[in-house]
Amino acid sequence: MGENVAVIGTGYVGLVTGACFAEIGHKVICVDKDQLKIKRLAEAQIPIYEPGLQRMVAEQLEHGRLAFTCHLPKAVEASDIVYIAVGTPSLDNGEVDLSQVKEVVTQIAEAIERASSYRIVVIKSTVPVGTARRMEQMIREGAPSANFAVVANPEFLREGSALHDTFHMDRIVIGCSNTEAGERIGRLHEPFGAPVLYTDRESAELVKYASNAFLAAKISFINEMAHVCDKVGADIELVARGMGMDRRIGSHFLQAGIGYGGSCFPKDTKAQLRIAEDVDYDFKILRSVIEVNALQRERFVHTIERALGGSVKSKRVAVMGLTFKPNTDDLRDAPALDIISSLVDKGAEVRAYDPVALSKAAPLLPQARLVEDPYEALQGADAMIITTEWDTVKALDYTRVKGLLAHPIVIDGRNCFPVERMERLGFRYVSVGRPGSA
Ligand code: NAD
Repeated sequence: MGENVAVIGTGYVGLVTGACFAEIGHKVICVDKDQLKIKRLAEAQIPIYEPGLQRMVAEQLEHGRLAFTCHLPKAVEASDIVYIAVGTPSLDNGEVDLSQVKEVVTQIAEAIERASSYRIVVIKSTVPVGTARRMEQMIREGAPSANFAVVANPEFLREGSALHDTFHMDRIVIGCSNTEAGERIGRLHEPFGAPVLYTDRESAELVKYASNAFLAAKISFINEMAHVCDKVGADIELVARGMGMDRRIGSHFLQAGIGYGGSCFPKDTKAQLRIAEDVDYDFKILRSVIEVNALQRERFVHTIERALGGSVKSKRVAVMGLTFKPNTDDLRDAPALDIISSLVDKGAEVRAYDPVALSKAAPLLPQARLVEDPYEALQGADAMIITTEWDTVKALDYTRVKGLLAHPIVIDGRNCFPVERMERLGFRYVSVGRPGSA
């Protein structure tokens, strides 16, 4: 039977969660404080780029299973289950900024107190260990007579394949102190058919950070191996393939490149480090993972300098891809942004192309010329630099690219092509951790 669910926060996670719950038959009301966003969403206009999401939202709006509002109390009143999916960005000191969560929890407490019937409040945002427990205290203080439970249900979707991930989840983690509430959240997800792991709330909160920290560690590890490959003349792709064939290791997250970015790995690794520090534990591996990832961007800039004769001063470079990975318009902590800033600081003239993120990138990159046509960016450039492995970049006509470039140099931070293919086309092809790449 369908549940009545409120989802607070309509960012990447909240909007996908709301649409997917509606798709499996629940009645969902999504809440955001951004009035313009809500007005547009109510007309099925999606503020983010996420394949398949626009159609799903439009269909669910039409079926009447999905609605949008700015009025949080009304949404909480109309729902038995209240999901929190607001942002939890990093503060400068690595700590998690919980202000959005706290603001919403205060409002939920007031609404629950008024409603006077049972509610399950679920924290889906990525939050430091202990947050669900503190939320329960906060709600209890604001709603002394209310009947409610607080459940931790972290999210594992990836931007760019969020719908697929939601319908093919590896696991659903439900952290609760109240078995009945936890089981009801389990039943809410039943149509997704994924295995459910029931835990205490602290463990659920940590599963999320531990998973992201571990994936980030795989990336930093393979990037370190790539530097060794460069020095000894081995090929990181073959090394990674050989490692990945071992089922204990697995082949995912072993692609050498310019490191991780995005809205999750950078902030979640820093937050996990901070969580450890707060209990007097020095999480040495994680400290190195973060440091290696930052260095990876700097090293790539040095690679570009070397490929251009030692300096990028007065050189024109064409940067392909701005987002932290393909199939999303998310620019948060994207390596390309740091790399472009550094190139500009060193005197390069940068033209940059991205298939979906140019308008979002414009205020962040006033020093670069942003162009919609990749060939325009490449015209007369001293080198082509690949920072995001978009299909539109991989599918360019490389004979034409060679004709447009002033010098046939491609510096590929994502190892998009076989080295031989690019060399056969007549490029000087510099990639990460492969022979001929240094
Ligand atoms: P986001 O910044 O894209 O969206 C947050 C939304 O919450 C915004 O639309 C904002 O307007 C809204 N909001 C903020 N305060 C509000 C309030 N008081 N009332 C109503 N709405 C409010 O964030 P996101 O990327 O969707 O991430 C949300 C959470 O999920 C974070 O904790 C993140 O770490 C976690 N997460 C994100 C991803 C991802 O790939 N983006 C994956 C897994 C987990």
